[in-house]
Amino acid sequence: MSTKPLALVTGASRGLGAAIAEKLAASGFTVALNFASNEAKAAELKAKIEGAGGSAVLAKFDVADSAAVDAAIESLTAAHGPVACLVANAGITIDSLLMRLKDEDLDRTLDVDLKGAIYCVRAASRGMMKARAGSVILISSVVGEMGNAGQTAYAAAKAGLIGFGKSLAKELASRSIRCNIVTPGYIQTDMTGALTEAQKDAILRSIPLGSLGSPDDVAEMVSFLASPRARYVTGQVIGVNGGMYI
Ligand code: NAP
Repeated sequence: MSTKPLALVTGASRGLGAAIAEKLAASGFTVALNFASNEAKAAELKAKIEGAGGSAVLAKFDVADSAAVDAAIESLTAAHGPVACLVANAGITIDSLLMRLKDEDLDRTLDVDLKGAIYCVRAASRGMMKARAGSVILISSVVGEMGNAGQTAYAAAKAGLIGFGKSLAKELASRSIRCNIVTPGYIQTDMTGALTEAQKDAILRSIPLGSLGSPDDVAEMVSFLASPRARYVTGQVIGVNGGMYI
């Protein structure tokens, strides 16, 4: 068993999760790279981390499948020790006006973005409680704080993470487990790649710092929250949004 602490990053094959995983590997964690289907991308990232002297393992599972989450975290824990840092980052958007929102799209959004995070935290917290240590970081969104027309289901899931995370911080603080919620603004990834130029221009006008964020901007904050430098920070909602929501 490696002596490095284990960090599990869900949705680590691309976008924010990949940047977060790289940063945590560079700061000394063995990083479990979770993904849903994009094995080639996750394997590429594993090789990149190892090439830079870090350690990573692949962890393919659907965060919305609670039995799969339990089994994966049990086997990761058996091989690498308890999860010391969990970054619940996996997420999807299925945008639709409420009038046209289909039941299956609402269910899938809540299942992946909200319940998926809860399943992962519940499973990882067993080992954290025994270890009386751990850091949980939930990746919510500025949309969960300020709302966005056409994203009611996504906003509900992301706002749900804030209530969940604050409650968790209160529930687990006596075991020295911290939980914080990061709310990114508009960050350049596949998720925002589908925006039209007109949509991007409108978004840029709403960002005081005048640019979209990069995955590294979010990874820097997560890396701080995962580290002992944030030992006295818990239950906080921390925006990485260029001032878009103040
Ligand atoms: P992305 O580029 O679309 O990547 C999504 C990641 O989640 C991929 O690794 C994907 O795996 C994984 N994933 C999706 N469904 C999953 C499931 N059921 N089980 C396990 N993994 C799953 O997204 P992103 O832009 O990096 O966003 C990451 C997180 O940040 C999301 O929670 C998102 O809501 C949040 N966020 C993003 C922005 C932004 O501007 N980009 C802003 C605010 C918040 P595969 O590659 O295998 O599909």
